[in-house]
Amino acid sequence: MNHIEKIHTDLIIIGAGAAGLSAAIAAQRKVNNILIISKGRPFQSGSTFANINNQWGVTFAENETEQEYLENRINSISKGTNVPYLSRILVQESCSAFEMLHSWGVEFKKDKNGKISRVAPCFCTEPLAAIIKACKQFAESCKKQIDWDRVKLLPETKAEKLIVKSGNLSGITARHKNKTTINIEAGAAVLATGGNASVFRHHITEPGLTGDGYKLLKDIKNEAAVRFSNMNFRQQVWEDISFPKKRFPVSCLWKPGYLFRSKDGEIARLDTLDTAILHGRMTHVPISNLQQDREVDEILLGLCRSHRAIEVFNSETGQCEYRILPFVQASNGGVVIEENGETTLPGLFAAGEVTTGMHGGDRVGGMMITNCLVFGKRAGEAAAALVQ
Ligand SMILES: Cc1cc2nc3c(=O)[nH]c(=O)nc-3n(C[C@H](O)[C@H](O)[C@H](O)COP(=O)(O)OP(=O)(O)OC[C@H]3O[C@@H](n4cnc5c(N)ncnc54)[C@H](O)[C@@H]3O)c2cc1C
Repeated sequence: MNHIEKIHTDLIIIGAGAAGLSAAIAAQRKVNNILIISKGRPFQSGSTFANINNQWGVTFAENETEQEYLENRINSISKGTNVPYLSRILVQESCSAFEMLHSWGVEFKKDKNGKISRVAPCFCTEPLAAIIKACKQFAESCKKQIDWDRVKLLPETKAEKLIVKSGNLSGITARHKNKTTINIEAGAAVLATGGNASVFRHHITEPGLTGDGYKLLKDIKNEAAVRFSNMNFRQQVWEDISFPKKRFPVSCLWKPGYLFRSKDGEIARLDTLDTAILHGRMTHVPISNLQQDREVDEILLGLCRSHRAIEVFNSETGQCEYRILPFVQASNGGVVIEENGETTLPGLFAAGEVTTGMHGGDRVGGMMITNCLVFGKRAGEAAAALVQ
């Protein structure tokens, strides 16, 4: 028979990525008894800590000019799929989020003069993104910010059900890897379970990111009409699948003389497309969902039928240089929250990749870590205020 345990805590945080940890760090100032549960291994899982790139762009606006530019870019590329006031909060608090990471000792890439350098993030032409140097150091810096007297961590434990009593969240049911069922009573919860990229056959995320947060919310639809948005929009990137694997440079989509061949022998070349469209395509690595330059990728998507890779030939050398397929990297859809991460269920807050609204169907690069920090902090503070 399965073992059943009961726990009471003031605040439960579901997920230990950038969003969950930011919520915990914000809440621990006010609440003594916080429990974080993580399906994966803490500080080693989720997109935040199990990231094949081992570096992150963190986009922020340092002054009013940058704020105006960034907010305009988000609104412009979202084409009505974002919630403008949430995007504004994200932009206005982006610099504090970056400064917070800096104060935690997270290391960023620097220029030759020792100044933190910034590059233009995807969908932007202005240099707004600082680059976090390495996963392990990032994880260690976050770990040090947790007050372990106030925060407990249950690793390898999966939230399976949200419990609703009298119209409020009253706790969750979780299951540990060893099959123990844990009934956790809590005054509030922050849902920070990340996205669902790993439900797709080709993805570059940790396999545990199966959209559990969406399922937990859908299961309570009779108790709270939680609103989802942008669920059809995901971030996909072209990845080489040869052995040994290489990174496929987006610039190849516009390089003269490059040919793309499907397994059936159908050939496309992209360098003959409209220059303005190709120029737009060069400003972002992920395939766009809403921009006109999606045209470029649609041609290629049409070539990779039945998940069969496209061969990329350099016509000058006759060599096949890459074999590419689209891989899912992140979700742009999720639960729509209010400004402090509130969902429609009293007592339940959400933050990070499980949410949407601050961005729409396309997302400015480097804004997801910023989003996790800004709305994770807000959700943590609001949840703490509620349980107090
Ligand atoms: C390769 C790659 C590169 C990226 N590059 C960038 C970048 O440069 N800049 C940027 O801003 N963004 C980038 N992103 C996106 C960004 O990394 C993620 O969106 C962000 O880290 C998500 O953080 P999160 O806290 O919401 O979720 P995650 O970090 O994914 O954490 C989710 C947590 O929830 C846990 N969990 C899931 N289900 C359950 C459950 N049922 N019960 C309990 N726990 C659960 C997981 O174990 C994990 O601890 C990239 C993503 C990828 C994959």
